This record gives sequence, structure tokens and C-alpha cells, in this order.
Amino acid sequence: MLAVFFLFLCVSASTQGTPSVIIIGAGPAGIAAASKLFENSFTNLLILEAENRIGGRINSVKLGEKYVDLGAEYCHGQKGNIVYELVKDLNVLAPISSHFKPALYYSNGSRLQDSFTEELQAIILGYDDFETNSNFSGRSVGEVFTSRYNATIMKKYEGDAEKIKLLKEALRLAEKVSLMIDGAFSWLETSPVKHYVRSEGHQLLVWQGLGYRTILQVLMGEFPDKKSPIREKIRLNSPITQIRYHNSSKIVVTTTNGSYEADHVIFTPSVGVLKREKDTLFQPPLPEKKLQAIEALGIAGVMKIVLHFENEWWGDQDSIFTFLWGEEDLGNLMGELKWVQSVALVAKVPGNPGVLVAWVTGGLIPEMEKMSEDDLLKGCVFLLEKFLGRDYNITTPDKILKSTWHTNGHFRGTYSYERAGFEGATRYQSLLAAPLESPEGKPAILFAGEASNPAHYSTVHGAIESGFREASRLIKLYRKN
Ligand SMILES: Cc1cc2nc3c(=O)[nH]c(=O)nc-3n(C[C@H](O)[C@H](O)[C@H](O)COP(=O)(O)OP(=O)(O)OC[C@H]3O[C@@H](n4cnc5c(N)ncnc54)[C@H](O)[C@@H]3O)c2cc1C
Repeated sequence: MLAVFFLFLCVSASTQGTPSVIIIGAGPAGIAAASKLFENSFTNLLILEAENRIGGRINSVKLGEKYVDLGAEYCHGQKGNIVYELVKDLNVLAPISSHFKPALYYSNGSRLQDSFTEELQAIILGYDDFETNSNFSGRSVGEVFTSRYNATIMKKYEGDAEKIKLLKEALRLAEKVSLMIDGAFSWLETSPVKHYVRSEGHQLLVWQGLGYRTILQVLMGEFPDKKSPIREKIRLNSPITQIRYHNSSKIVVTTTNGSYEADHVIFTPSVGVLKREKDTLFQPPLPEKKLQAIEALGIAGVMKIVLHFENEWWGDQDSIFTFLWGEEDLGNLMGELKWVQSVALVAKVPGNPGVLVAWVTGGLIPEMEKMSEDDLLKGCVFLLEKFLGRDYNITTPDKILKSTWHTNGHFRGTYSYERAGFEGATRYQSLLAAPLESPEGKPAILFAGEASNPAHYSTVHGAIESGFREASRLIKLYRKN
């Protein structure tokens, strides 16, 4: 008990001219908030991170000479994208090559004609009024898409039974593409009225083997090889278990290894963490509006399986392989290999020689995240042989990595989405972003993180903007006084 009291005294971040700020989470939002505060002389900072590493849903892992990303991988857009703006002069990001076109294979091992693939792609990506059409309120992406898709193909291919059968089978592929974008387990869960605002320019910029971690180095002033004083402010392996506010002017944050006090707390963990822990993390409990926001925003997951091969058996021609399951083949898929149908595509990773990444979507992910790497490897080889074995000489990977975003209690998913049935005037990301005030009416607990960004939710640039936003809120508050 005495030791705990002593620890408490040691770490109580009392003010030394500037307010004390605790940032919870060292993902992009937390690191962005810390770097902006630091730049503005708010050095009385502590960053509490539950994991044994920084980065959050950015997790660049070294594979051979280069980094591969188990989490965020692409920078989406250029104009108005803070990630792009921060690095545009550093020669670290490049648009994905124009060779990045999907090769679509059928489950009997035949490659479908490129003209068919392009046609299907145009249909799948063609309904671009999804983002704005409020007539879709109360329905899901799955419902709206399926009815429009069926109407399109019936009209276009009336009488061509074979083509219609193939296109009907392709509906499952369309769902997978949609789930990769939204990160839900089912497209009946996601709202077709989306408020995401795309940044103009190339939508898929890659880090060419440097990994998305580069942005963390840039934010902290570490790029290419300096050490930032912000590092000293980070406590890893420090999951917080409670935040007590309102009783006094100080906020008390309890972790599994000590308690800390501060004038302000910036909370950045995912909406998945909030869903699970909202009833225990905050004392007093969160207000009703905050709970509504947590309910209206969804998070589930995609999974990545990274495969390293000694030889690039796929050559230079193809960069993305997608898989269209025929009805009969799908029916024959047995027991322990059933999950392979959840692989949406397998893609080359620019800048990572010998690496392919399998993107997995759907409700089998929680089970798959728990599977052994050996079993996942066997399943991936089965899938590649079944679909591509006629055209390629598939070899066995010598290394495999898997992500576990859904199972990991510090994330509980990959990126947030807007849930079906919660349309209307309320912008739930803004409700989530609203700070909780102290008895004196000052922002006490501030909320950042991708899900609190009404325009760029679900992305790294959205997370960084939200961290800057909350840091600026505090900077303004103290400049004003
Ligand atoms: C597989 C995958 C692919 C993605 N692809 C892209 C992409 O291509 N492009 C893109 O822009 N975005 C992508 N994203 C999304 C992007 O990674 C996230 O939007 C972004 O990283 C969120 O940042 P954040 O700071 O809001 O949250 P996080 O990165 O989750 O950071 C929050 C931090 O809080 C910590 N934490 C949680 N609970 C506690 C606790 N109790 N105590 C202390 N600390 C805690 C967590 O460990 C974490 O480090 C992808 C994500 C995943 C997982």
C-alpha cells in the first residue's frame, strides 16, 4: 500500500506552469496530440499505452530487409490529407503502380476474362451515390446493393443464363469488397448513407517497404533517424482501468501499475474499446449522448495474413488475385477449410519482395484470429493452388504473420463504420468528439481517435487530425486565459 502511495506521489503530474495532460493511447491520434502539445511548450505530458509498442493500429513489422504493415497500409488521397501533407517532400510515399489490377480466378481454376473483371469492377464500384443518397436511410449497404445489382444484371444480361449465374455468384465477392472498405462483419450492418469525405488525388499511396510507421517518426520529429523527447513521456504496458473525473479539479487515471493525476486527459482508444469498457472505464459514467455515439458507430474487423515466399512465383504480370467461388465448389468446401472462402483477395506488397498479403473479411475472423499459423498457412496454400494452380507454380511460404485486431482487447476491431439504422441529422463522430467538462466548465476529458472524425473516420489521416484537434483545443484554452 505504502509503495502504491509513493508511486502515486512520484507520478502525480503536477503542473509546472503548463497544465498536466495525460494522453491515453500511443496510436497516431495520441502521438499527433502529443507532438502538437510538445511543439507548443506543453511539456507536462504523459502518454499511457496498453501495448508493449507504440503505433496502435499502425503496426509495421520487419520482414527481411523491409517493413510490412499488419495494420494501416495505404495513404488515401493527397489534397487535404494530413498524412500526405506531412511527408510530401520526403520521397517516402508513392502511388501504387497502374499494374495493380485484379486478376479474377474462378474456383475451377480458370482465369476469367479481363473484360469480365473490368465489367464486374465497374458494377461493384459504380454506385457512387451511396455516400449522399439519404433515400437509403433505414436500409443497409447489403440490401441496397443487392437490389440494385440484381436489377442491373437482369436488365443487361436477360436471357444469358450462364452470365447471370456467374454474376450472381460474384455478389459474394462484392460483399467482401464492401467489407474491406467498411471493416464490418456483414454488409447488413453498414449504412449506405456515408459521411466519409474523400481527399482528392491518388487513393492508394504506399510506403515502399518503409512501413506506415514512418508517419509516427515524422510526427515525433524522428525521421529519418533521430530520437524524440516525446519517447521519454510514453509508458508502455500501462493499460488504464479507470478515469475518475468531476470529484476534484484533478482527474485521476488508474492503470494496472499505478495511478496518475492530470488537469486534462485526451482519450484515444478505439470505439471497440469504448463499446466493451464504457461502463467501467469512466467514473462517473459517460453521459447518454456519448453512449448513443458509441452505439451508432460500428467496428468489427478485417484480418491480414502476410505470406513470405522465397521465390516470387507470381512474376511481374499480376499484382492482385481475387477469387470467385462457384456455388458447387463452395458447397463442397469442408470443415476445417471452410474459412478459406473468407479470403477476399491476395495482393503483392510494393516494396516488399517475396511478400503477398491475404485480406480476410467477414464473421469467421474471430475464429481465424485464434487459429495456428500452421493451419492458416495450409489453408492459404490450398486456396492458391485451387484457384491459381493451373497458371502458376505455387510454392509454400517460408514465413507467415497474422493480425489479431478483433481479438486484441486494446482494439476490438480495425476501423469504425457508420451503422445501418442510425442515419439522420445527428453526426455521431462529433458527439463522440465532444469533451466532458470539469465542474468549472473546462474540457476535462477530451476524445480523439479516428472514430471521432466526422469527415475522415476510419483512417490514419482522420486519427491524426483528431489528435491535432484536441491538442489545439487545449492550446487555445490556455492562450485565451
Ligand atoms: C488491418 C488494418 C488496415 C488498415 N488500413 C488502413 C489504410 O490502409 N489506411 C488508413 O488510413 N487507415 C487504415 N487503417 C485504419 C487506421 O489504422 C486507424 O484508423 C488508425 O490507426 C486509428 O488511430 P487511433 O490513434 O485513432 O487509434 P489506435 O491506433 O487504435 O490507437 C489507440 C491506442 O490506444 C491504446 N489503448 C487501447 N486501450 C487502452 C487502455 N485501456 N489503456 C491504454 N491504452 C489503450 C491502443 O493500444 C492503441 O495503441 C487500418 C487498420 C487496420 C487494423
